[in-house]
Amino acid sequence: MPMPTCRDMSELATDYMEGTLPWRRRLEAWWHLRACDMCRAYYDQLEKLRRLVRQTPLPGPAPDVEAAVLAARERGEGPSDDPSSA
Ligand SMILES: [Zn+2]
Repeated sequence: MPMPTCRDMSELATDYMEGTLPWRRRLEAWWHLRACDMCRAYYDQLEKLRRLVRQTPLPGPAPDVEAAVLAARERGEGPSDDPSSA
């Protein structure tokens, strides 16, 4: 099976973290992370950053954008990642 390249990994890393990759892709990504120090370091960074972002309330000028997105979601608009609700 084709291994993802390091370049692919930079695009896959977020989906991998979210668990939204198909299992086969996920497995390939996992193998790549095991084998590749560079991508593992990148992934660790990303994960740390993500944890930080989750802990920190969003600063800056966009709280109303977030509120609008949340409101749209509550009205059932916009993308839903829950297939059972479709
Ligand atoms: Zn790599």
